[in-house]
Amino acid sequence: MLAEFILYVIIFLYGIVIGSFSNVLICRLPLKENIATHRSHCMTCGSQIQWYDLIPLVSYIILRGRCRHCGAGISAQYPLVEAANGFGYVFIFANLGLTWTSILTCLLFTILLAIAVIDWRTYEIPFGLNVTIGVLGLIKTIIDYPMGLWEHIIGFFAVSIFMLICLYAGRLIIGADCFGGGDIKLMAAAGLFLGWKCIILAFLAGCILGAVIHSVRMRMSGDNHMLAFGPYLAAGIMIAALWGNTFIQWYINLIF
Ligand SMILES: [Zn+2]
Repeated sequence: MLAEFILYVIIFLYGIVIGSFSNVLICRLPLKENIATHRSHCMTCGSQIQWYDLIPLVSYIILRGRCRHCGAGISAQYPLVEAANGFGYVFIFANLGLTWTSILTCLLFTILLAIAVIDWRTYEIPFGLNVTIGVLGLIKTIIDYPMGLWEHIIGFFAVSIFMLICLYAGRLIIGADCFGGGDIKLMAAAGLFLGWKCIILAFLAGCILGAVIHSVRMRMSGDNHMLAFGPYLAAGIMIAALWGNTFIQWYINLIF
């Protein structure tokens, strides 16, 4: 019991540390800044941030959300993303156990978190993040080899081709894009990771979440928001990664 508690504390700590890396991705990728060479600096006064002010969650609380030098407010995004990543890791391990799949799913979650925030803000998904998910998918395919090989390969195409057809059909019929190219690449990469059954489930879950939440947001704010599909697809992918196989098994038993 105690050992298990300590294990989850360690997983949480890993989560918030890697979550702070996710913040770096979120801030720098849209600006095309180098991820590795730039030191972290205050967005207002530009002063370099010392290592002791870069401790995930702790520093934000000690500094009460203000820059040590100029006192400007630090975005709540930093502690929120770190906390979300920490709790996310704990939740993933609690659901999937101490397995390789859990580690890969945690990394997938971190990249999806970055994609969700970046797409929410900029309506774009950085290509490099989709490639990273593709690499995770490749590792997952190798781990599942040879049993799940075709499951994963078909997963790469299952939803992405459908979205591509919708994209071109939409351009012909209504003269507008219904998906972004980044969304399609995301579903190809995540499809390689999840396999075709789960990626279809992820897509359906993402569409339902997107439709419900987007219409509620539009009604509440009154104006016509542009839809960033990425956050909803990311949520759908995580739902499928955690419960997809259980749900599909239940569904198959129901029918046959
Ligand atoms: Zn400052």
